[in-house]
Amino acid sequence: MLLSGQMAVIPIVTIPSPILREKLHQLPVEEVGSEKINDLAAHMRETMVAANGVGLAANQVNKNVQLFIIDEKLALENNVPNAFINPEITEYSREEEEIEEGCLSIPKVYIPIKRSKKIKIKALDLEGNKIKFKARGFLARVLQHETDHLNGIVIKDRQKKDSGEST
Ligand code: ZN
Repeated sequence: MLLSGQMAVIPIVTIPSPILREKLHQLPVEEVGSEKINDLAAHMRETMVAANGVGLAANQVNKNVQLFIIDEKLALENNVPNAFINPEITEYSREEEEIEEGCLSIPKVYIPIKRSKKIKIKALDLEGNKIKFKARGFLARVLQHETDHLNGIVIKDRQKKDSGEST
């Protein structure tokens, strides 16, 4: 049961759930700003905060739509939105760095992942505004991790590609 005004924390999907390996559907533009999508983003935010995450993609709560959210503080510090719809990374810096990452869908596992230090991303925010900006450092890493989710890629897949391991 829910008390009115209280929001539900959604169970987080973990591997090997097939939806984590699916390329998610683009959200039709006319659905951006709808109550359904805003509610989903709000529930995802509650879920992410409860799980101590810094980002969460829609397939991690079993929804097949290109939407992810990031930590509110991280977004504020960088003056960027905290929700991204139909995102596309349009540029990756050749310069990369390898840092350990965790994922709420792969509990208690940390894997060193090589990623571009800087990226350029475009997306829609929850109001349907077109956004486009450059990101670097931790923000760039989080945006790459979450965009990967929307394309059906989890950190274990990146590990495989980089190190040739078969797990
Ligand atoms: Zn993840």
